[in-house]
Amino acid sequence: MKRVYLFEEGNKEMINILGGKGGNLAEMKKIGLPIPEGIIISTDACREYYKDGQTISEKLKNEVLEQIDKLEKITGKEFEGDRPLLVSVRSGAPVSMPGMMDTILNLGMNDKTVEKMMGIFHNEEFVYDLYFRFIQMFAEIVMCVEKEKFFKLKEELGKEVDRKELIARAKELYGEETGKEFPECAKEQLFMAIDAIFNSWENERAKVYRRINRIDDEMGTAVVVQEMVFGNLNEKSGTGVAFTRNPSNGDKEIFGEYLLKAQGEDIVAGIRTPEPIERLKEQLPEVYNEFSKIAKILEEHNKDMQDIEFTIEDGKLFLLQTRNGKRSPYAAVKIAVEMVREGLLSKEEAIMKVDPAVLPQLLHGNFEESAIKKATLLGKGLAGSAGVAIGRVVFASERVHTKEMTILVREETSPEDIKGISLAQGIVTVKGGATSHGAVVARGMGKCCVTGCGAIKIDDIRREMHINGYTVKEGEFISISGYTGEIYLGKVPLTKPQFDENLKEFVAWCKEIKRLGIRMNADTVGDASLGKGFGAEGIGLCRTEHMFFQKDKIWTIRGMILSHNPEEVRLALEKLHDMQKEDFYNIFKLVGNDVVIVRLLDPPLHEFLPKEQKDKEKMCEILNVSYEEIERRIRNLKDENPMLGHRGCRLAVTRPELYNIQARAIIEASIQCKREGIDVKPEIMIPLIIGAKELQFIKKNLIKEIERVFEGERMRVDYKLGTMMETPRACLLADEIATDVDFFSFGTNDLTQTTMGLSRDDSVKFMPEYYENGILKVEPFATIDERGVGKLVKLAVELGRKGNKEIEMGVCGEHGGDPKSIEFFDRVGLNYVSCSPFRVLVAIVAAAQSHILNKN
Ligand code: ADP
Ligand code: MG
Ligand code: MG
Repeated sequence: MKRVYLFEEGNKEMINILGGKGGNLAEMKKIGLPIPEGIIISTDACREYYKDGQTISEKLKNEVLEQIDKLEKITGKEFEGDRPLLVSVRSGAPVSMPGMMDTILNLGMNDKTVEKMMGIFHNEEFVYDLYFRFIQMFAEIVMCVEKEKFFKLKEELGKEVDRKELIARAKELYGEETGKEFPECAKEQLFMAIDAIFNSWENERAKVYRRINRIDDEMGTAVVVQEMVFGNLNEKSGTGVAFTRNPSNGDKEIFGEYLLKAQGEDIVAGIRTPEPIERLKEQLPEVYNEFSKIAKILEEHNKDMQDIEFTIEDGKLFLLQTRNGKRSPYAAVKIAVEMVREGLLSKEEAIMKVDPAVLPQLLHGNFEESAIKKATLLGKGLAGSAGVAIGRVVFASERVHTKEMTILVREETSPEDIKGISLAQGIVTVKGGATSHGAVVARGMGKCCVTGCGAIKIDDIRREMHINGYTVKEGEFISISGYTGEIYLGKVPLTKPQFDENLKEFVAWCKEIKRLGIRMNADTVGDASLGKGFGAEGIGLCRTEHMFFQKDKIWTIRGMILSHNPEEVRLALEKLHDMQKEDFYNIFKLVGNDVVIVRLLDPPLHEFLPKEQKDKEKMCEILNVSYEEIERRIRNLKDENPMLGHRGCRLAVTRPELYNIQARAIIEASIQCKREGIDVKPEIMIPLIIGAKELQFIKKNLIKEIERVFEGERMRVDYKLGTMMETPRACLLADEIATDVDFFSFGTNDLTQTTMGLSRDDSVKFMPEYYENGILKVEPFATIDERGVGKLVKLAVELGRKGNKEIEMGVCGEHGGDPKSIEFFDRVGLNYVSCSPFRVLVAIVAAAQSHILNKN
């Protein structure tokens, strides 16, 4: 196994071994761009390090030393030599995890080197600045000493202090904090640094980041050891970060910031405010021109918007990093579409560039114009990440909870805030520009973000903020716009979600390419029209029981369930029939020529019954029975375990009339539509089936009822009859069931519950430990458990097709809107997925991506 590579031995195809940073540096070297030389310690070596119990093996040591030797020859510099080699030691995993792991600069500095450097640069301020920075970073990253301690020391000693004295005091501090002497030997420094970088793979924030972004924990990080270039040398030196396009709104312009006479992290640390990149045009025009040229080369070479880190040393430009830039969902779509227009990408390539999971953010629209005029503007920061958000102000990440809509307001966000950022609706920072960590992370997550709102003064003790004369307490609502940077008091009303032209075009390409049908789960006309607008091809799941909960309807169904008087029951059923018929008619009419799958009654009847005393009393009046009697009847209907109790098609076995009136309502509504010239496609779906005999029993009753309707109406409609597949037994016997139905729809929520024997509601209490301990990789109710539940799905698909060649199969359930699950459903050959209206776009894009992947 090769553990250490020279830049010239790598390229970007090797990112799995060299990490994103290393692979891209090697690639830039290959195409002749100006980058400082270096070596890369591979992710293989990192995994070996963990296997060996977190120690650097002799083999690795020797390989590093060998390659350092070569690096010394290539650069003409030497560790502790007359021309001292100083290096940065940088972490870089195969997927980008901005700011999550560590980097050490100026390694190689010691009392000997500092003298040699003086001999070359004759610049005490600069040389000792390097030395001090190195001691501080080394202490922070290798020995976990808080950086503030060093900054405080420097402040206390003041500007006048002798520089040698400062270094001596810094080393003293190092000794006090670590109980060890500062290592003078450059090679010892190097191995300690490599060890620390490998270790940073397992630091808390990196782990949280990986969990949120579903990054494999086993991957490991590479380590780049790279010759230093000095942005802090003089006024013609500096450091910067720039995107080849605007990551917030997608505009085609170089977008970024820089600081002259600065090194590395200065730009994101928020100590000095960086300049916008346009200023570089005036300050160092040649450097700016060269940078724009390189930006174009890199974008074309990598066929994506690039996020570039650079340093200028005495008027000469060096690149230190490039990667595909994180961007807002809005920018992602715009850039993908424009790159196709520019001929840079094919449509298929463009489709692969947009993460479908962030698209719902695009649908949150913007503030209503008229409302903005009336709203109270508290202040304005920078537009960090597009979108709008409304929520309660919270000043600390640990107080952000999922239950509440919140906006996290921070002085500046640090990588420790990652969890808070992921849970909040939006983020506001007082300091930091558009390339600060907060903005970068927010854009990656598709979160709205306002940065650099300097007018805010946060009072952490009173938990309030002051802004332009207003005081906002924690828990009060504000509304923020990541388009403009504006912050308003209270809740500013939003416009309806809007499709802009770019998104329309993008979705149209996806629709052309995908194979899977995309339907929606919609119970009301409102939901259905929303989903239709997003491009849903019919309804894959219309839950009838939700109709019952609307307004006064609930009393009719309660009466039907609780009455013991056959005539009363009959009348209630009739009334239910009439209400449902009207509901179905409206939905069919709206959906028109597309399929509508109506699921017959599913939940336990107990769910419909009154719980509060006043409701029970009202029930007594309606049925004219005593309070005790009502309570007794309610008790009788209660299941010990409702999830596995008297529900689903079990209801139709004991009380066939329930499903019969529903079928009648569906067919009559369809006939009414047909008479109006609509080509309706009603499909009736039976939930929770466990076997063929059960299905046949129910089906016989339904068909009898439906035939009666046809006769009465003197008209027929085409309809389909199918089952949900949501018990393991049904999946195991799918071939028998399939002969009796036109379609299967996998109800993967219940199928996950019944297969794993876990309740979705209760499992949240103990599942976190399953993920933390690596027992389960993904949450099975969010992404299908491919190995277990997925195996049953696959089996049922195969058996089902064996039993009935014509059978149609799909999924309804949360998984139908989850990109990873969609990829699985596509692979096993389902015909469609169905998901909530807001997930329809996600599903369309995910289905297109999955098809492109499966095809290749
Ligand atoms: P991160 O992954 O957090 O971006 P990096 O490894 O990219 O960390 O390092 C952060 C910054 O440190 C870089 O953007 C660059 O400004 C500076 N830096 C890293 N290596 C060098 C180097 N060899 N010479 C000069 N500056 C460097
Ligand atoms: Mg970097
Ligand atoms: Mg179900």
